[in-house]
Amino acid sequence: MQYRQFGNSDFKVSVLGFGCMRLPTGDEELQSPNIIEEEAVDMIRYAIEQGVNFVDTAYPYHRGESEVVLGKALKDGYREKVKLCTKSPLHKVESADDFDRYLHEQLERLQVDYIDYYLLHAVNREKWQGVISKQSLLEKAEKAKQEGLIGQLGFSFHDSYPVFEEVVDAYPWAMCLLQYNYLDLETQAGMKGVKYAASKGIAVTVMEPLQGGKLAAPPQPIKAMLQENVPERPYYEWALLWLWNQPEVSMVLSGMSTMEQVKANLKAAHKAEINSLSDYEKRLLEEEVYQKFRELILVPCSKCHYCMPCPENVNIPLNLGMFNDGYAFGDLERRRSLYERFGRNAEKCTQCGECEDSCPQGIEVSRWMPRVHRVLGEGKSYSSSK
Ligand code: SF4
Ligand code: SF4
Repeated sequence: MQYRQFGNSDFKVSVLGFGCMRLPTGDEELQSPNIIEEEAVDMIRYAIEQGVNFVDTAYPYHRGESEVVLGKALKDGYREKVKLCTKSPLHKVESADDFDRYLHEQLERLQVDYIDYYLLHAVNREKWQGVISKQSLLEKAEKAKQEGLIGQLGFSFHDSYPVFEEVVDAYPWAMCLLQYNYLDLETQAGMKGVKYAASKGIAVTVMEPLQGGKLAAPPQPIKAMLQENVPERPYYEWALLWLWNQPEVSMVLSGMSTMEQVKANLKAAHKAEINSLSDYEKRLLEEEVYQKFRELILVPCSKCHYCMPCPENVNIPLNLGMFNDGYAFGDLERRRSLYERFGRNAEKCTQCGECEDSCPQGIEVSRWMPRVHRVLGEGKSYSSSK
């Protein structure tokens, strides 16, 4: 395992962190609470034994069960080997008292008396100017630090660069967690944000390194571009090496679902040198592959499932995934028959818009669902479905 400086602290973090948002479950729903506990505990412990020293979860992951299962994995001496990170559920926090209440609930779920890094979850302009500022949550967090309940404060982020800069400048954060990969070069905080935070001594950590799996199994034209250059390098490794190539990135969190993925990521982490990609390989990803992807992927859904459940039982990520894949992989007819098999599910959308506040990508689901139905259910083309 390779280790890097964690911002301006003394801590050396493993380049790979274990994200507990996609633990193995007994059913198809990614955020299902039915975690296969024994398998998840084995995976987390194996990663720690191989040198991973940072584990991350959040209040809503697996509808609350992620924190519980991680707490179990950290028994038997594993807690002492890692920094533990979880997040304040800002989507639920309405008052300063709520902040404390959820923090205590999380300590209980995790069965610990101390959280090393406590993040404000999914900060955006609305939350920054709303609940965080109006309820003085930074002061609340300072108090929790003084009481010894949390070590350091950070934030995860989903908005644009100007908001990011404002947040960074407002507090001496220990870390930030950003959605960053070679497709998100200019979206969200982007590369500019990564450099800015690092220049301030904030540890930059990365989530969604594979953009919800898109970069691990890209469409054929992209596979061809990558294979032509380094045939033996797996696609996910291109994405991880691109991140680790940057000195500003301290650690990459991967939400692992199988032991096979854990082992593959650990193997890749051995190669996590700064400047391990040639200038040519960097340019290939940041310019040619980036451009091609932008032509192929129509909706930037990362399949995080934050928008679920929908009151009408619309499976939003499944529908968007079938739609995107149909275009990107050039097999719309196959996706149309899958759509039939899943019960023409997007048609159930009543366009209530309830799901949209939770979407970190700002996707207008209520506008996309009817469009998905017109393309997949009624056989229309994308341009005529708009
Ligand atoms: S807009 Fe559609 S998909 Fe979203 S919650 Fe409402 S019914 Fe469900
Ligand atoms: S629509 Fe948004 S919230 Fe829902 S899975 Fe996709 S990215 Fe996540």
